[in-house]
Amino acid sequence: MPIRPENKSRYPKNWHEISLQIRERAGQKCEECGVPNRQLGGRDESGNWWRAKPTGDNGMQLTWPTEGSEAWCESDGREPRRLRIVRIVLTVAHLDHKPENCDPENLRAWCQRCHNRYDAPMRRAGIKERARAQAAVGDLFDGREIEEAETD
Ligand SMILES: [Zn+2]
Repeated sequence: MPIRPENKSRYPKNWHEISLQIRERAGQKCEECGVPNRQLGGRDESGNWWRAKPTGDNGMQLTWPTEGSEAWCESDGREPRRLRIVRIVLTVAHLDHKPENCDPENLRAWCQRCHNRYDAPMRRAGIKERARAQAAVGDLFDGREIEEAETD
């Protein structure tokens, strides 16, 4: 999850180091769905992970599909299929949503999808909260406009 600018100061100075340790603890795999960090692949409609297949061999090394493109993916024992390609990036989540609480028990190494799913209810609440704050500013502004209009 990208860190919101207003929350940046809530993270400890050594957050980078902490998050590396948590990803190491997880064996560089999502602690929820098990996908390996940095792997290229796609998700099917049920959310299952399929590894991208190399697109070829340029004589020096294998070539790989680019993120965002559709390419052939494989999963053990199944017919390859074409899926939209993403790269897994393990992120570190706070179970209590509090960046200050970096107790290892409060931290999980999760892929984008699992992190998003966990944060979604919280994020919806945050969006509502910011919208309410925005509306409150709007009310103040409207109030001032009305006052100014009445003093004319
Ligand atoms: Zn995951």
